[in-house]
Amino acid sequence: MNYRGRFAPSPTGHLHFGSLVAAVASWLCARHAGGQWLLRMEDIDPPREVPGSAHSILAALPAFGLVADEPVLYQSQRIAAYDAAFEQLRAADQVFPCWCSRQDLADQGGLHRDDPCVARSDPDRVPAWRLRTPDREVRFDDALQGPQRQNLRESAGDFVIKRVEGFYAYQLACVVDDAWQGVTQVVRGNDLLDSTSRQIWLQQCLGLPTPAYLHLPLALDASGRKLSKSEHAHPVDPNDPLPALRRALAFLDLPCAGEAMNAEALLAYALARFDPTFLPHCSERSAA
Ligand code: GLU
Repeated sequence: MNYRGRFAPSPTGHLHFGSLVAAVASWLCARHAGGQWLLRMEDIDPPREVPGSAHSILAALPAFGLVADEPVLYQSQRIAAYDAAFEQLRAADQVFPCWCSRQDLADQGGLHRDDPCVARSDPDRVPAWRLRTPDREVRFDDALQGPQRQNLRESAGDFVIKRVEGFYAYQLACVVDDAWQGVTQVVRGNDLLDSTSRQIWLQQCLGLPTPAYLHLPLALDASGRKLSKSEHAHPVDPNDPLPALRRALAFLDLPCAGEAMNAEALLAYALARFDPTFLPHCSERSAA
């Protein structure tokens, strides 16, 4: 099967170091496998979106030598596909409307278990829609983090796939689009390892293939916080790409040409010596 990888940023700020690491690693894996590298803009959460950041992220990537093989897929233009997936789940009775508030679920650790709901149905209010989750383990082998197992009922409960505001949740959109784009391996940060079992369950409900997964160590700042939480403090500068690109390669334990004059040359040097199995296996590490 032809390898297809992807980088799928959310437009919540400028490209930051943690995203650059995911972009570089997913690009190297795709190029190493002789496959395609795709871009998807995950712009389906308008309240969280920072105006101008989708453009700024996409404009920055080529400065780092990262050019996609196909036109960018914008999730904001894929609502009909998410509607169709949602209807498929609804027809199969795999989703249910839910009026429970966070407070209603506080006694269950915020998780929704065992439909029926705590809150009563309310015809005057729009519900969220949750996917029923089974009391069984989802298992997968992560290429870096090793064998994973998660009982969805215990860890995630019946999770929201369509929000009260009417927006589709990341989990649904991601699964529908990974399948639509023919993605064969997902390379992304370890903060999403925990989402993977939910995504695999959704793929099974929708009859979609499950790609391979590789979760990269999460980049932490000097005080041990996840970088994306403080991303405004760590934007990368597309006007001076080499320092950040060198740092990203070092973070991934990849060889870095001392004398390279441009981003393309740095990437080519790393690619020629690249072996995905040598990527760091830890779940997080300092980027400082
Ligand atoms: N859009 C997500 C983010 O920026 C990544 C989603 C994914 O790679 O599956 O954190």
